[in-house]
Amino acid sequence: MLAPPLDSLGKDMECEEQSSDSSLDIVIKWNGNDYDVKNLNTNSDVKTLKEEIFKCTGVRPERQKLINLRISGKMAPDECLLNTINLKTGTKIMMVGSKEEDIAEASVVPPKREKGRKCKSYDSEDFDEERVDKMEIHLAKVQNRVDNYEIKMLNDPRPGKKLLVLDIDYTLFDHRSAAESGLELMRPYLHDFLESAYENYDIVIWSATDMRWIERKMTVLNVTNNVAYKIMFYLDNAAMITVHTPKYGVVSVKPLGVIWGKFPNNYNKHNTIMFDDIRRNFLMNPKNGLKIRPFREAHLNWEMDKELLYLAQYLVEISKLDDFSKLNHRNWEKFIKKGQYKKEKRHKRDRTDSNEPKPPDSHPKL
Ligand SMILES: [Mg+2]
Repeated sequence: MLAPPLDSLGKDMECEEQSSDSSLDIVIKWNGNDYDVKNLNTNSDVKTLKEEIFKCTGVRPERQKLINLRISGKMAPDECLLNTINLKTGTKIMMVGSKEEDIAEASVVPPKREKGRKCKSYDSEDFDEERVDKMEIHLAKVQNRVDNYEIKMLNDPRPGKKLLVLDIDYTLFDHRSAAESGLELMRPYLHDFLESAYENYDIVIWSATDMRWIERKMTVLNVTNNVAYKIMFYLDNAAMITVHTPKYGVVSVKPLGVIWGKFPNNYNKHNTIMFDDIRRNFLMNPKNGLKIRPFREAHLNWEMDKELLYLAQYLVEISKLDDFSKLNHRNWEKFIKKGQYKKEKRHKRDRTDSNEPKPPDSHPKL
């Protein structure tokens, strides 16, 4: 089948054929990168285009979904000639698709563990997570959010800063307890934590509720217009995706790929960390998530809860690293204890060497 009749063509395509000898250069956007496909003959078809894309991306033609290559409102079929589609040199085509090796990796059945022997790198939960984040259907949903979710910027990204993504409910705020004012339910040290984090991180707040509630809560807590730090933007439930896992069933999760896809030059898996009290929200990015202890029963726990105080310290410590992907955030407390130990040892040595009094310790004792 060739192109459909002219009267069936939608607004998103051009009906006129271009000259028979013309060629064009287009750009394929995939996985946050641009790939140039040059000297495409406009008399060739979509199948030929996909073969060219395969050469530069490694994604097989049958795995490619060219999201905005459309005819009559539908994705252009392989037989469709390029000269019937509104393509011009420089046109950017969004692609979703996975390479064979990634799909194979996602389909691997975890090996049976020997009885009584612990697997060093993974537990059963991790296997679910590893599989989910590479599934083509989920990556397509992420790309959809990158293409269609509109971010209302409050402040611009700052060059060289890392990215901190924060949940609200039970992470920054006890949203269930009764109180005269929202401020009574705010997690202790919230503003100190955000002010400290802002030095090294651009901050995004992402909550599984709608934007009106997020804006209202953040205004009540005096986060939105705080002079000591700036929030880059808020994300709501519309930026989340649903995934299916054997462990949790169908659940909504917070894929960081949405932010990475929107800001490919600023943020990636190497410089992003997300805090949430629900681990399943990290399913698409298990290595970038840190599960925070939930802050509940604010009136009872106000005095004791120092989670944000210690986490501020962790963020300072890891901000010196070039790559977060080698960290295991489950061990964050051990990490700062180790750092604290090293500092104390250094101070002790300096004191002995210089015979000077010990400098005041600005870090919290653990
Ligand atoms: Mg929460």
